[in-house]
Order: sequence, then structure tokens, then C-alpha cells
Amino acid sequence: MDTRDLALQAACPVIAAPRFGSLPDMENGQRIIVAANGCFVQVKLDWLDCIQRLTPSPPIPLPYGYIDERLAFAFGVMPIRLIEVFIEAGRRGLPNEVAGALIYSRRTRALRLARCEPLDVSPHRVRYRVPAMDADETLAVDLHTHGRGAPFWSQDDDRDDQGIKVAGVFGYLHHPRPRAAFRLVVNGMFRPLAHPWPSEAEAECRPDAELEPGLLRRILSFYYARRCGPWNT
Ligand SMILES: [Zn+2]
Repeated sequence: MDTRDLALQAACPVIAAPRFGSLPDMENGQRIIVAANGCFVQVKLDWLDCIQRLTPSPPIPLPYGYIDERLAFAFGVMPIRLIEVFIEAGRRGLPNEVAGALIYSRRTRALRLARCEPLDVSPHRVRYRVPAMDADETLAVDLHTHGRGAPFWSQDDDRDDQGIKVAGVFGYLHHPRPRAAFRLVVNGMFRPLAHPWPSEAEAECRPDAELEPGLLRRILSFYYARRCGPWNT
């Protein structure tokens, strides 16, 4: 085999999903899993182990096992306390946009919040310098605000969201309760993530939206922990 193909396949191997055993562990990197129920990508980083579906079930039966999507963070759960500190920084920056990041340390197995130094900032755009990181650190969660505007993924966001990370955008920061959108970014593939700052449309769908904030918050924390995955308070 051509050595270039060997190198490419070592960088992104393809494995068949075991039908009777368990999926073998992997080092940090990316691999493709061909399963009876579709084709999946698995990405492992210091802070992330995720399996995401790439294709539906193939049109012929394959003699392999089935795979479920997975999203697990080495730091456990998303730290709402750190993100609330970022929201406060976003409010202090009004009317402009603000950028920040949650950075994961392999040594401490924890996240820290870093503000991103703005290079060019306005109420509609922020260009920023990625914060300095130690050798054992990785940018895990990319955060920015849309100031008083709505949280959504702009064309700039889609262009900027490269590589592998969680991205979060906050808007309506002049309201008592901001709104947000979160997504998993895997090499150009975007997957929405549930979070505790739902859009107005999402909030209107919930019967408990009128409850007083403290109680609502506790209910939502419980609800999201059970239903929507890894967030804490
Ligand atoms: Zn944006």
C-alpha cells in the first residue's frame, strides 16, 4: 500500500462496530466506525469522548454491531457557574459583543474561564485573540455574545467554528434572563446541544415557564440533568 495511504488511514482509521464485544478504547484522535445502523465518527480529546452519526443505516444488512451516539466530557458536567461569570462579563461589555473560552487542563482535569482579548469589537461583531494556554491546556468551549441581539449562528460563526469544540452564543443580555444557543462542533459538522438558557420559542413550549425564578431554576436544573445531558448549577 502507498505509504501516504497508510499515513492517512493511521490518522483516521476505520473500524467495524463489534457485534458481540465492546468497542475498543482509542487514543486521542478520530476514527470512523461502520455499524449495522450507520456510519459514525468517534473523536477523543483530553476533554471529550464523542460518537456522532454521519450517515443513516445502510441499505443492505451489515453483520456488525449497533452504535449509539455518545457525548462525554472529562470534566464531568458543563459548569454553569463559570458560564454565568461570562454572562456578567458580556453584560459589562454591552452594547458590544464579548468573547471568552472555557479551557481544559489535562493536569487538573478542570475548566477555567478565560476572556478573549478583543481586536475589533462592535455590537455586531467581535474579532479576538485566542487566550494563551499552557502546554496541557485545550480550548473546550468557545463562548461569545450577541449583546442585545438574539443568539443565533451567524455566517461568521459558521465560518469561525472549525475543529472540535463546544460553541455557545448568548443574546438578549439586557434582559434579566439571557438566551443562548449551544452546539457541538466536529470538523464542520454542527450538532445543537440542549442547555439551560432556552430560546423564547423553546421556553413557551414549557408549561412551567411562569413559575417564580428560583423554583423554575431548580426544576430546570433537574429537568436538564435528566433530559438534556451534562449541565450543572
Ligand atoms: Zn455570533
